[in-house]
Amino acid sequence: MTTAENISNLSDTTKDFISSPRKMLLNGQWVTSASGKMFDTLDPATGEVIVQVAEGDKEDIDRAVAAARKAFDDGPWPAMTSTARERCMHRLADLMEENADILAELEALDNGKNVAIARAVDIQVAIDFIRYMAGWPTKITGNVLPLSVPYAPDAKFLGYTLREPVGVVGQIIPWNFPVLMCSWKLGPALASGCTVVLKPAEETPLTALYMGELVCQAGFPDGVVNIIPGYGHTAGAALTVHPEVDKISFTGSTEVGKIIVKAAADTMKNVTMELGGKSPAIILPDADLEVAIPGAASAIFFNQGQVCCAGSRLFVPDNLYDEVIAGLAEAADGMKIGCGLDPENMINPLVSQIQFDRVMGYIESGRAEGAEVVAGGGRRGDKGYFVEPTILANTNRDMKVVREEIFGPVVCVQRYQDIDEVAKLANDTVYGLGASIWTRDVGNIINIVPKIRSGTVWVNCHNILDVVMPFGGYKQSGFGKDMGQQALEGYLETKSVCIMA
Ligand code: NAP
Ligand code: MG
Repeated sequence: MTTAENISNLSDTTKDFISSPRKMLLNGQWVTSASGKMFDTLDPATGEVIVQVAEGDKEDIDRAVAAARKAFDDGPWPAMTSTARERCMHRLADLMEENADILAELEALDNGKNVAIARAVDIQVAIDFIRYMAGWPTKITGNVLPLSVPYAPDAKFLGYTLREPVGVVGQIIPWNFPVLMCSWKLGPALASGCTVVLKPAEETPLTALYMGELVCQAGFPDGVVNIIPGYGHTAGAALTVHPEVDKISFTGSTEVGKIIVKAAADTMKNVTMELGGKSPAIILPDADLEVAIPGAASAIFFNQGQVCCAGSRLFVPDNLYDEVIAGLAEAADGMKIGCGLDPENMINPLVSQIQFDRVMGYIESGRAEGAEVVAGGGRRGDKGYFVEPTILANTNRDMKVVREEIFGPVVCVQRYQDIDEVAKLANDTVYGLGASIWTRDVGNIINIVPKIRSGTVWVNCHNILDVVMPFGGYKQSGFGKDMGQQALEGYLETKSVCIMA
């Protein structure tokens, strides 16, 4: 299989989009980078080049921030009526829906993931979320405040709050769900009246750039959305220190998140951090294994485990251990591995050589520390970045594979005896993004859910996300929320107004 063969089966619009080098969206225009530099975006199924993309760096970020600043300070976006902003956002959602198959093809080609799942999950949730956020501009309101002012008893006051957009927002996103992350960032920023400079991950710039085309067609004023592909240490870093950027919204690793928080501190930016995870899936002794075993498999193997809230630590009680291990191994061994453009393939390549080496390194480290490989453990094929769905059994809290985020199709199974201890075991991590418990006993749910320190707890499911459900982390998984009404909070200031009669 070659990339040319992969591309030959795609729609004409997709082929056309990748037939020539892609530019960056700056102030409503498609332009080359100031330096003239380009970088390759690769097909993870083959490691071959799909197309070249303009490589933005500090100078392009400066130009984009100036455009976003102008669109915010003097431009029509925050000043536009809320109904007009809603219409614009609805047009974007409609255009995404009309072009959903193209977005899914580009996502599958650039990231490697399954095209049918991309269409049904990534793209659909992205569309739904822009539409959900399009409903908000007319509903963002302040409050009337019953002022007392004890030291001015004879005066009359009217007090109220205004909710105002934070300003120019720099948004930096990862490669695991490129369109979805793009919509999670654009939706609340635009609904609040902010203007945006977005930097997609260097591994997967194509769908963000296609979204840029749709933003232009939807009729957003120039400079409201700028999309600058490029590397994190150049373009991304320039955004995080730029004095004219009011807020940084970042999704990515905890390691890079810490660098960004420090960089943004100098200009005291408002910061939202959606970071890494090492999420527990906890099977309780009374669980229905017909649900829990496939559920635990999908919790880790969905999107090749490249999911921030993947169920990467699986806790299994003594009484069910052998049955769960056997069932999970059967599920892993039965998954068809191959290129994401064939919807039959449920395990697709990892995104890059770097990610492939990283995940294979962790599997070796697990072996060396005494974990038992009961499924997978190896590479598949000699081309592309395919890793078998892997189960490491008999792991314990001290192993590197249990402590660190692997971000691949690798689950670490830990055995436990005492149900009263299980929340403590689950919390034994620096992360706190997601968790699932598998049980038929409502008493267990009531007892254990409050003890788990994470932003989401699922019961008898995992990785379920919905546009109305706030998503974000506790502990070193970050702060602030994406999705749900709460996502708006990160993009709004509160102004108190006090009028004396
Ligand atoms: P990453 O390496 O942290 O990169 C994320 C983004 O940050 C990329 O666009 C990257 O650019 C950029 N970047 C890198 N260094 C930077 C710097 N010094 N200054 C500014 N920007 C910089 O993460 P990733 O490998 O793409 O994604 C995987 C991670 O994301 C995992 O840890 C996962 O858990 C996390 N994640 C979290 C959530 C959530 O909602 N909590 C969702 C999805 C993923 P380049 O890559 O282009 O250089
Ligand atoms: Mg790529």
